[in-house]
Amino acid sequence: MRIEYDIKLGFKDVMIRPKRSTLKSRSEVSLEREFKFLHSPLSWNGIPIMAANMDTVGTFDMAKALSEKKIFTAIHKHYSVTDWNVFASQLPENIENYIAVSTGISKQDSEKLASIFKFNSNLKFICIDVANGYSEHFAHFVKKTRTLYPDKVIIAGNVVTGEMVEELLLSGADIVKVGIGPGSVCTTRVKTGVGYPQLSAIIECADAAHGLGGQIISDGGCTIPGDIAKAFGAGADFVMLGGMLAGHTESGGEIIEKNGKPYRKFYGMSSSTAMEKHVGGVAEYRASEGKTVEVPYRGDVENTVQDILGGLRSTCTYVGAQRLKELTKRTTFIRVNEQENRVYNE
Ligand code: 5GP
Repeated sequence: MRIEYDIKLGFKDVMIRPKRSTLKSRSEVSLEREFKFLHSPLSWNGIPIMAANMDTVGTFDMAKALSEKKIFTAIHKHYSVTDWNVFASQLPENIENYIAVSTGISKQDSEKLASIFKFNSNLKFICIDVANGYSEHFAHFVKKTRTLYPDKVIIAGNVVTGEMVEELLLSGADIVKVGIGPGSVCTTRVKTGVGYPQLSAIIECADAAHGLGGQIISDGGCTIPGDIAKAFGAGADFVMLGGMLAGHTESGGEIIEKNGKPYRKFYGMSSSTAMEKHVGGVAEYRASEGKTVEVPYRGDVENTVQDILGGLRSTCTYVGAQRLKELTKRTTFIRVNEQENRVYNE
């Protein structure tokens, strides 16, 4: 046994220090980024925020709404090949730049992936997603997928430490997804004691990825627009959101009425709700590692997106970053013991 005594930080442990700025208005800030990839010859341009590949967030409807704003959706893996074919036949222009096909790492998963790409070869992004990205089998799957799809952009995760980011990039991933345990409907830290505070995970993993020419996605733990700004400030290339995009018209999830008010069901992909829905129950050898909650219905996602992007633009003006790309360079975090004033919060 060993202990690391360095304190690891989450979003709530820091704030961003304001800096002198020449920007006159938030409208001068550009949130779009352009990326080239470590392995894939493709390039990407857009606002690097992603809807999570959960079936109550990353839906086809969400992708249609977000792609109009050049925002990305990792489509959840439970659509059938037929669902994909129908969706792809009515693809709005350019949407393939803003969606990823998600997959697990079983034989059936890779067969399904092959079928989806067979009929829809214009799709560009693959998101290989497992809760625990530390297994050797996972890195082998990434390697195999890279051989099969040399031109596609491969996202792989989740991990939280630099050495595993490097291993996945060297195995063929272009982008590594970072986060174990910070999610709003995640109970991994409760059930297993395993995890890593998200801000430190981003800082350490971004450093490892950028050293090799790869990118990272900060996945999970953002609860307010300020957290997204902190994730970008810490070095995330992309920020993935689950809970912040749940509960909308486009989110999917059963609609429930309570005391005359509409709610939508939102649950973790390892919750018993998800396992019962998709694989017929929680297997005997494992525990559910996700919650099921009901979130108040929040209308169309467009309004939430505007709130998020407005917040981010404002962060950039506070530190003098004319482009989102400059935010990390212009970020100094200060350690804090307080966040917002909650005197008028319920
Ligand atoms: P959020 O933005 O809601 O805080 O986090 C979203 C992320 O939580 C997802 O992208 C995924 O990585 C993670 N997640 C989703 N479902 C589960 C689950 O059932 N268990 C765990 N441990 N993590 C989950």
